[in-house]
Amino acid sequence: MADCIFCRIASGEIPAQVVGRTPDVLAFRDLNPQAPVHVLVIPVRHHAAARDATGTEGERLLGRLLAFAAETAASLGLDEGGYRIVTNTGRDGGQSVDHLHLHLLGGRALGWPPG
Ligand code: 5GP
Ligand code: ZN
Repeated sequence: MADCIFCRIASGEIPAQVVGRTPDVLAFRDLNPQAPVHVLVIPVRHHAAARDATGTEGERLLGRLLAFAAETAASLGLDEGGYRIVTNTGRDGGQSVDHLHLHLLGGRALGWPPG
């Protein structure tokens, strides 16, 4: 989608600090990090949110996103200390970019429950 900021990052039109990629998944550092490690993991192809990744292909994509987030966590040295993976959805979830993304947060103790 031409007016979607994460589509533009996925296409390389907008620069980002990429930490990993596969043909269908991209991981890059959040512009406004909330923890020492704050990485966003997105599908290259536009989906608005997890609820839009439907059917067999959508389920596969969600699995690949989660698996890639865990691989990225390991590659960034987070396995020992642990980390959090979350996806904000819609207004009450606090989603501000309408392109499906997982937040990978680590490098400090994270509070729970979230605000
Ligand atoms: P949400 O609020 O939708 O769960 O998360 C969107 C995230 O995208 C926010 O944490 C925000 O800092 C990040 N973000 C927004 N615009 C950009 C950008 O242009 N580049 C990068 N790297 N992150 C962005
Ligand atoms: Zn998009």
